[in-house]
Amino acid sequence: MDIGGSKTEAVALDDTGAIVASTRLPSAQGPAGVLRTAEQVVEDLARRTDRGVDEFVSVGVGIPGQVDRDRGEVRGAYNLGIDLLPLRERLRERTGLPVGIENDVTAAAVGAAHLMGLSGTVAYLNLGTGLAAGYVVDGRPLRGAHGVAGEIGHLPVDPLARPCPCGQLGCLETVASGSALRSSWPAGGAHPGHTLLAAVDSGDEEARAAFDHLVRGAAASVRLLVLALDPDTVVIGGGLRLLGPRLFDGLRATLDRWSTDSPFLARLELSPRVQVLPEDSSAAAVGAALAVAGDDPAGAFGASSGVGRSAKRPACRA
Ligand SMILES: [Zn+2]
Repeated sequence: MDIGGSKTEAVALDDTGAIVASTRLPSAQGPAGVLRTAEQVVEDLARRTDRGVDEFVSVGVGIPGQVDRDRGEVRGAYNLGIDLLPLRERLRERTGLPVGIENDVTAAAVGAAHLMGLSGTVAYLNLGTGLAAGYVVDGRPLRGAHGVAGEIGHLPVDPLARPCPCGQLGCLETVASGSALRSSWPAGGAHPGHTLLAAVDSGDEEARAAFDHLVRGAAASVRLLVLALDPDTVVIGGGLRLLGPRLFDGLRATLDRWSTDSPFLARLELSPRVQVLPEDSSAAAVGAALAVAGDDPAGAFGASSGVGRSAKRPACRA
């Protein structure tokens, strides 16, 4: 499941990693609310697959904030009202199932690589309220020594040097994210992504500047990912996808323009590496299930012992 600030999305996967059921509920706030919602989506998936909850093999949870996989704890998921939650243990108590937790962007990276059939090294760039990346190498998440890999949103790049909540100035996240758009185009209100392009088309100069700024920041993020990781593919996902083809075309055009000016960048073939996550993809929920299943070699897909607790039917993962 993918627990987001507004909704919790969950899928049930069969032994091949195919989606056999899905569900979506509004996310309740606070530790108790998050746990209640998580338990409800597991029960809902059991109903939809005509199983008992105890027939699921494992539950993988993708959630924002600092995810300590060793302790099974989530810290600082402020858009969910969570300061500290021992999510793994609490959800295990409620469902009776093995639970694993994963950073939501890393989960989305794993799910995107799986659903889009991408092999090799994949970088997933999440342009949402914030900006962060997740990495997958040969189907396995790359998390770094302390789970910090992918926090590229806090690389200072912008000479405008707007303050970032992290305490630095001019971070990528202050340039290319939903929150950046809110501050660079205040006239757009709380959800500027929905009205930005109409304002650009009507000749609003501030909207145009905000859009151009956003496109440059997104392109700079792709360039950074290529230079840092040399991925085969950079997948773009996140809420700002609602800006559609104009964002991606602008991003690719910006990369191509930079490459015209730099033989070095031209050789890196930046824009051909960029792909867009299909709309309505359940990448984060799928990736959470896969990443957690992959932690247990005996339970990994394709392993001969990959059967559920009940031998009556094939294994199923939520
Ligand atoms: Zn920052």
